[in-house]
Amino acid sequence: MAKIIDGKAVSAEVKAFVAKETAQLKEQGIVPGLAVVIVGDDPASRVYVNNKKKACQEVGFYSEEYALPKETSQEELLALIDRLNKEAKINGILVQSPLPKGLDEAALVEAIDPHKDVDAFHAYNVGRIMQGKFSFLPCTPAGVMELLRSAGVEVGGKHCVVIGRSNIVGKPMAMLLLHQNGTVTICHSKTQNLPEICRSADILVSAVGRAGFVTGSMIKPGAAVIDVGMNRNENGELCGDVVFEEAERVAGYLTPVPGGVGPMTIAMLMKNTLTAAKLQNGIGS
Ligand code: NAP
Repeated sequence: MAKIIDGKAVSAEVKAFVAKETAQLKEQGIVPGLAVVIVGDDPASRVYVNNKKKACQEVGFYSEEYALPKETSQEELLALIDRLNKEAKINGILVQSPLPKGLDEAALVEAIDPHKDVDAFHAYNVGRIMQGKFSFLPCTPAGVMELLRSAGVEVGGKHCVVIGRSNIVGKPMAMLLLHQNGTVTICHSKTQNLPEICRSADILVSAVGRAGFVTGSMIKPGAAVIDVGMNRNENGELCGDVVFEEAERVAGYLTPVPGGVGPMTIAMLMKNTLTAAKLQNGIGS
């Protein structure tokens, strides 16, 4: 039976570390600040933003929320980002996606000061990650690396298969595994022989967004299986990409959904905001 990697427990450790560092910064008069911008009334986005606000409180950050109507224009959002870029008490800026149709999300991300881009989606930070010289790592892939580390899963020399090639999960995930000397294969919707490739993975990361996508027969016995997917099953319940009951019998390590990668994403956002606050105050490099 697979060892279940408890994302809630690991995320609590990360947040405890951030809270401790934040308390020390406060003694120097520095309070890390995060601004979250949400546009429209997408219920899932609302839940994510509430969770981010709650996490800010937990670790002792200052936070601001801008909940704007779906009619908000690109120009108004650019003006807000410009103001937040200049605001000293804000160290991190996050624009919650998805945005209502008609808004250019890429242009908004590019307008964020890269030093305040705590999602690490700005081209500057993406480039730094490619070079291996980053200050921030994208939160979900960074959370996956933390889960592997906490479980004692060695990446160096292992065959790592990432299913999905999005800019926010698949591509940076592959890069982080490569930086830790994994031998990485990236799969996507045009990949041939996908089950066979997955079966050769020592570490399998699924970021597809389809319930039931990874079955037990696609997993190498003893592999570490990380399920990034967040889907709803036929009963409307939250589930991942991996058929948990099948994977549990084959894998060596497995993350559940919920309670796996999800909580890590927010914990890593807190860590990035702490890093941003330190760097903007001349602490660290
Ligand atoms: P995305 O942009 O839709 O990308 C999905 C990827 O899966 C694409 O690269 C796509 O390939 C690939 N794919 C789709 N069907 C496939 C198939 N039949 N065979 C192989 N590959 C296939 O999604 P995303 O933003 O990366 O998110 C992926 C999942 O992770 C979603 O469920 C999302 O909700 C979840 N997520 C979770 C967290 C968290 O905190 N836990 C954070 C972010 C995302 P093509 O490129 O060829 O189309």
